[in-house]
Amino acid sequence: MTVNPAQALANLMAYALSVELIHPDDYDYVYNKLCYMLGISTGQAEPIDLCFGRDDLEKLLKPLLDEAGHKGRYDSLSLAARERFAAQIMDVFMPHPSTLQTRFEALHAKHPRLATDDFYHRCVHSRYIRTDQIAANEAFESDSPYGTLKVTINLGKPEKDPRDIIKAATRQVSTYPACLLCKEHVGHDGAPDQPPRANHRIIRMRLGKDPFYLQYSPYAYYAEHAIVLHEKHVPMHIDAQTYERLFDFVDALPHYFIGSNADLPIVGGSMLSHEHYQGGLARFPIEEAKTCASIKQRTVTVERLHWPISTIKISGKARATVIKAADALRRFWQETCDSDHDIIPCTGTTRHNTVTLVVRKTDDMYTVYTMLRNNITTAERPDGRFHVHPCRHGIKKENIGLIEAMGWAILPGRLARDLQLIANYLDDPLQANEDTLAPYRDFIDFVSKQTRPNTHRMTWLKQQVGHVFAQALEDCAVFPQTAAGQRAFQSWMEAYDDNHKI
Ligand SMILES: [Zn+2]
Repeated sequence: MTVNPAQALANLMAYALSVELIHPDDYDYVYNKLCYMLGISTGQAEPIDLCFGRDDLEKLLKPLLDEAGHKGRYDSLSLAARERFAAQIMDVFMPHPSTLQTRFEALHAKHPRLATDDFYHRCVHSRYIRTDQIAANEAFESDSPYGTLKVTINLGKPEKDPRDIIKAATRQVSTYPACLLCKEHVGHDGAPDQPPRANHRIIRMRLGKDPFYLQYSPYAYYAEHAIVLHEKHVPMHIDAQTYERLFDFVDALPHYFIGSNADLPIVGGSMLSHEHYQGGLARFPIEEAKTCASIKQRTVTVERLHWPISTIKISGKARATVIKAADALRRFWQETCDSDHDIIPCTGTTRHNTVTLVVRKTDDMYTVYTMLRNNITTAERPDGRFHVHPCRHGIKKENIGLIEAMGWAILPGRLARDLQLIANYLDDPLQANEDTLAPYRDFIDFVSKQTRPNTHRMTWLKQQVGHVFAQALEDCAVFPQTAAGQRAFQSWMEAYDDNHKI
């Protein structure tokens, strides 16, 4: 059924009212603004469908975007231009940043959860968080010696239009905003090499001594995937201040965890140039990890976890004491040299030892997970001595950042298609396209050694992917998962404890 533009706009307005994106008092104002943008001059229509689901926004926007493209309001042959125009439409429904800040603070004073619920849902309903695309991801769980790991095959990020790739290649790279995390993206229209952010909003939070901003990830990998970014474009750096910031965050929003990627290449995340943290509502497999050994330090408990990446958990109720113990652990690790395990803390002035941190507050108990990382490279392992081994690169090649170190794999979208090809190959090797399967040769060798069931073969194959992910995490362990490696880790923890008592 074709919907005339005024009718389509009335439907979108009804949606905005039903999800409380706008106040009824703002109806005419928003309607008229959008009429101007869309070139509609026929007066207001009545909505024809008042019952909207979460996915209906795409259906509601489609006729408006088609019509505006037809009228030349944007380059209708460019997918990026269409996305930019959609963001501009949804921006009209969004309050100014200052209004949203005041609202967040007022709700936060009543209860922190009210504030994040309101902000999060506004980001979803305004199409900033792309729930339609996130729904395309494939997610499954996999058993491992360390408990149940999670795996997401990332199909949500849209393919780039070839025209837009050409435009980006022939255009000078933008220097404003300086990077994808800079706060200046708020309301920014985007460019061929930048995503449209007209409908993007952030919330100011003071963490430690510095202003930070809370935003959500548009392609959330987990529930209420939040990003907390520094006001300034300053590089990632972990020091004593980091703990004050992370603890301030969980004090302000105790229903969210927060974590910091390591601040060095190879073991850090993909954005080292801008100080930021990631948090959110989800719980992660590392939080279910068993304890191998523990030490009591007066009011603080120090635990060595049964986790593929060498991890120490420190918990206690006294904030300052927990911070002191966790920061002492980081500093002790920073100085650690253990040539038996290739742990070289620095080469000249280049340091190699660092940490990935996660902080959670449950009731009044603080927990800090410190994952010991080292980014040294060797002739044998030029990608990183404690990086995923090349035999697993078909499944996972990129850095093991915060989310994955916590036991949640984010794997490339190509795997969804290629796993089917691998399954076909296992059924009938003669039918295979060798070129496509070349990156998976090691994976195929690995699964070929396992007993393959007669039923639920794709489920079984996905479990094997999970097993390879567990091995990829083990590759990153500075103290390996061997009896000798774990003995060395235990001795290291005891040495830290002795050192901290002094
Ligand atoms: Zn930046």
